[in-house]
Amino acid sequence: MIKYKHSTFLLQFVKRQKADNKTIGFVPTMGALHAGHISLIKKAKEMCDIVVCSIFVNPTQFNNKEDLEKYPRTLDKDLQLLQEAACDIVFIPTVKEMYPKGLNETFEAPLKGSITNVLEGEHRPGHFEGMMQVVSKLLDKVQPTHLFMGLKDYQQLTIVKHMLKAQKRSVVLVPIEIMREKHGLAMSSRNERLKKEARLKADFIYKTLLWVKENKQKYANKDLEKKATEMLKKHTKEDVEYCSIVNADTLLPTDSKENTIVLTALWYGGVRLIDNMIL
Ligand code: AMP
Repeated sequence: MIKYKHSTFLLQFVKRQKADNKTIGFVPTMGALHAGHISLIKKAKEMCDIVVCSIFVNPTQFNNKEDLEKYPRTLDKDLQLLQEAACDIVFIPTVKEMYPKGLNETFEAPLKGSITNVLEGEHRPGHFEGMMQVVSKLLDKVQPTHLFMGLKDYQQLTIVKHMLKAQKRSVVLVPIEIMREKHGLAMSSRNERLKKEARLKADFIYKTLLWVKENKQKYANKDLEKKATEMLKKHTKEDVEYCSIVNADTLLPTDSKENTIVLTALWYGGVRLIDNMIL
């Protein structure tokens, strides 16, 4: 596995590979890697000749300074996992490399409107602008043929899909299923911050989403949302920020039963967790 800190050398390498008609799969991450991330690497290995993974905790997508500081950083273990998964290239840029003009540099978001303002956008103002900024920069630096992203961050994936179109990029976006722990909790770097007991008990989130899926024809969407929120609130004394059933493309509320998804964000054991399920 080759490690790059500077994009100049990385891009030279990528360009040589592309000149030889090789496909380049790219997996952007913020590190603290787990089996969910590795499933993206594995799919990229299956589909592409060369796999590039980036590890960069992007400051501009954190609307909360404490959250950024507390974000787990486990570089040695990450490198070991990537090596074991036969990842070809790891790109570990510094903040200076990504933001040479400083973190306040101007960024004209390629996408505005409801899709970025609802759900996570409403609860984490500025998050998606920062995410679009870093994904745009990373795509410029890596220039992959394929981009692999997880359905765990469904709204992020949807926004990136629209952003690629708006920016007229030719990269193929490949969505990857949510990887869950044995009892159902969606794998997340943030789970590291849960105490062992809370981590086991957090399966109530998955169970509630499953309940919504199994009962989707029984109740109107608004009633389903209400019942699911009550179920979640029985298990956590902390905030349930949202539990919403929306159209899977527009992410707007709908009365329809076609093409819907349930998404939730809540606090449990002092950690903000998100999950979703296509209905
Ligand atoms: P992150 O490091 O949290 O920014 O995640 C990097 C990529 O891994 C994103 O595309 C995530 O959607 C994806 N990912 C994170 N957790 C999971 C999971 N449990 N299953 C599948 N993909 C995931």
